[in-house]
Amino acid sequence: MSVELKNVSVTYPNGYEALHKVNLFVPDGEFAFIVGASGAGKSTLIKLLLREISATTGAVNVNDFDLVKIRKSKVPKLRRSIGTVFQDFRLIPTMDVFDNIAFVLRCIDKPRSYINSRVPYLVNLVNLNHRMHSMPNELSGGEQQRVALARALANDPKLLIADEPTGNIDPELSYEIIDLLKGVNDCGTTVIMVTHEHDLVQHFGGRVISISEGQIVFDEQMSGR
Ligand code: ADP
Repeated sequence: MSVELKNVSVTYPNGYEALHKVNLFVPDGEFAFIVGASGAGKSTLIKLLLREISATTGAVNVNDFDLVKIRKSKVPKLRRSIGTVFQDFRLIPTMDVFDNIAFVLRCIDKPRSYINSRVPYLVNLVNLNHRMHSMPNELSGGEQQRVALARALANDPKLLIADEPTGNIDPELSYEIIDLLKGVNDCGTTVIMVTHEHDLVQHFGGRVISISEGQIVFDEQMSGR
């Protein structure tokens, strides 16, 4: 679903202003890259969307949740409506592929019969059928990220946030991850992907939002190569 920031600034407790009067609208169904140098404010923006931090001023809306007014008790519901993929995969090392994905569904009390059909569907979606019962340490970085993506999609989120998803993956396999993200987007999920890899952005094209020193300095549709 959509994401909207109006005049949002974030000042950390030490007085550092990491975002300055940011205005951003990402409509339903869009694929947007967020680019910017280290320290530009990308993680701060993602933390805002997940309500890990609050805006100091301005309005933030994500998936129809007003993040300024949201009650603490509703934050888990917000987070369940967002799938997340991070650079470091964050798989549970003691669980196999099936259980890593099933775990999130068990946590939200999905019935066993649903889990037993949903997990193989998700594993197939990321082309890992042959790895269903492998442990994370038996998988390549690209495969681990595909498991993380399957897990992020388990609850059929309306918004997928991928924070540097290709940061720990061989460049040739990075394209595969973005192809998968594009496929997810084609099925209607809004995708926001943070990256500092300009090659990838130029290859795929689409909406590119560039942040520098806490401000959006570029926001345009670019054609891919
Ligand atoms: P990026 O993800 O683009 O690398 P961040 O959003 O992590 O950038 O950081 C933006 C700026 O805010 C940086 O200068 C960083 O040092 C600062 N910053 C991040 N987190 C905090 C914090 N908890 N307290 C103070 N400053 C922070």
